[in-house]
Amino acid sequence: MDLKQFITIVPDWPQEGVVFKDITTLMDNGEAYHYATDQIVQYAKEKEVDIIVGPEARGFIIGCPVSYALSLGFAPVRKEGKLPRETIKADYGKEYGKDKLTIHKDAIKPGQRVLITDDLLATGGTILATIELVEKLGGVVVGIAFLIELSYLNGREKLDGYDILSLMTF
Ligand code: IMP
Repeated sequence: MDLKQFITIVPDWPQEGVVFKDITTLMDNGEAYHYATDQIVQYAKEKEVDIIVGPEARGFIIGCPVSYALSLGFAPVRKEGKLPRETIKADYGKEYGKDKLTIHKDAIKPGQRVLITDDLLATGGTILATIELVEKLGGVVVGIAFLIELSYLNGREKLDGYDILSLMTF
């Protein structure tokens, strides 16, 4: 299935000069969403994943159906102040803005094989911070799966040494 036909390009959003890739038109389509999820389920099986980790909010949209399909746990990575128990933090800078990401301290057990999911790889800042959190807890990042990779922002270079699946490249 050609997934690109389901992505809507939105110029100058959320600010001038950014060409936003809107995935909601893919999620709207049950068959396209199912197909995309299945590709990542296959990848997670190959990588013998123990748990899935995704940054809010679109990392949940990608990771949670994969967790469900494989009866695996899902650990949310959230902006500072959102998780109720003891967390660890990582700073990150993204395509437009800066922030802190957190994860519950007990979300991952040392040695667990982790798949990280997000909708889109831009500069790589979000995923680098997510990797930092997983590794601080002793998790092993065995794969990173995206719907979309924006190759012109070179995020992949920052993720050198990690295995990456992206279903679409722009
Ligand atoms: P990065 O940290 O620069 O790689 O940015 C990736 C994060 O920003 C992801 O979590 C995306 O949800 C969001 N993002 C950046 N650009 C886009 C876009 O064009 N469409 C959808 N999400 C985007």
